[in-house]
Amino acid sequence: MATNSDLQKRKDAAVPKGVGVLCKFFADKAKNAEVWDVEGNRYIDFAGGIGVLNNGHLNPTVQAAVEAQLQRFTHTCFSIIPYEHYVRAAERINKLAPGPSPKKTAFFSTGAEAVENAIKIARFHTGGRPGIVAFAASFHGRTNMTMALTGKVAPYKLGFGPFPSDVYHVPYPNELHGVSVQDSLDALNTLFKTAIEPTRVGVLILEIVQGEGGFNVAPKEFVQALRKICDQHGIVYVHDEVQSGFGRTGKLFATEYYDVEPDIIAMAKSMGNGYPISGIVGKASIMDSPNAGGLGGTYAGSPVGLAAVNAVLDIMEEGGILKRSCMLGDKFKARMEALKKDVPYIAQVRGLGSMVAVELMKPGTKEAAPEYTKKVQEIAMSKGLLILTCGTYYNVIRNLYPITIEDKTFEEAMSILESAMKEAM
Ligand code: PMP
Repeated sequence: MATNSDLQKRKDAAVPKGVGVLCKFFADKAKNAEVWDVEGNRYIDFAGGIGVLNNGHLNPTVQAAVEAQLQRFTHTCFSIIPYEHYVRAAERINKLAPGPSPKKTAFFSTGAEAVENAIKIARFHTGGRPGIVAFAASFHGRTNMTMALTGKVAPYKLGFGPFPSDVYHVPYPNELHGVSVQDSLDALNTLFKTAIEPTRVGVLILEIVQGEGGFNVAPKEFVQALRKICDQHGIVYVHDEVQSGFGRTGKLFATEYYDVEPDIIAMAKSMGNGYPISGIVGKASIMDSPNAGGLGGTYAGSPVGLAAVNAVLDIMEEGGILKRSCMLGDKFKARMEALKKDVPYIAQVRGLGSMVAVELMKPGTKEAAPEYTKKVQEIAMSKGLLILTCGTYYNVIRNLYPITIEDKTFEEAMSILESAMKEAM
């Protein structure tokens, strides 16, 4: 079998460098929270394919549903010949999505595509209002529109413009970095006074917990204030739950913590637990705006992906996974709080459920510590633990482990992380 270094050479020769790759090893097989490379080395996977595997690699319930679907048919295009998995998943998500309004759901393939379609529907619904408000440090995808919405230049937008016009960013509240809820609301107000009148804004899009931006949790009063502002001006209010959804925060949707009903929620990643599927659920009155044929796509709502979604919903409805998400997140928080006395780089431990992270700053300062963070990641990797970083300043360690991780594997991973954080100092 090929070695990691052989494959690395072939990759470098065959794949453009813009497709950045974190690991120097190549995957051979995986099970629940563990991955083995082509040389037989084992890694504990705290990345989960960037938050896609909340229910673990090769989850038996999901695998069984997908295998059954593979025996029946793999593709018809829902816009040509529809199938029940699509309708059933939509019915179930419509019931489970937060808020009292009747809902409708449409499915696509990627997170960016879900966000794109939320924008399309909002534009149509508002009679083509051009303006979109997004937030600094947000991530919404890599297509042209979602790049424009994303609130981080390098590496996502650098050199890829021009972008669609009328996209504006305001600061996301972040107490640690000196941005209060009031500061963010004031910035939005200023935007409405200086750049675009609110009656020309069609969409406001928020990550309820920012993923790539640093696992920043939106304060409840902020989210409720945004809902009011959108109501006041007829703006379609969208939550991007592509990373925070499907159990990561201990709820199906993180929105459930906030007592608000967004107009549309975008979802992807762990909803298919490894199969490329995404969707948007929203108020039926808004979702029904575009004409027949305006939404869709050849692969949109694949029957294989939707078989996975229905299996994931079975697991979610059973409920144990949501409790486990909170239990593991609490454990992580407690271990990191306890480590503060030995590791003064720990500036803040935060998050909801298992969407937990630790932000690292130079001891005694408010200065981000990206070099230290990178070193922790490298040492952890050398000890067999794959962790991801995030944040505008690359100084946050985030958790996207399978929530189904065995207790002893979780303990092993935490010990590796703690020793890496000490060694890196
Ligand atoms: N929104 C959020 C919040 C995300 O985290 C991501 C992916 N990291 C996306 C959208 C884009 O999803 P995809 O990569 O599937 O297009």
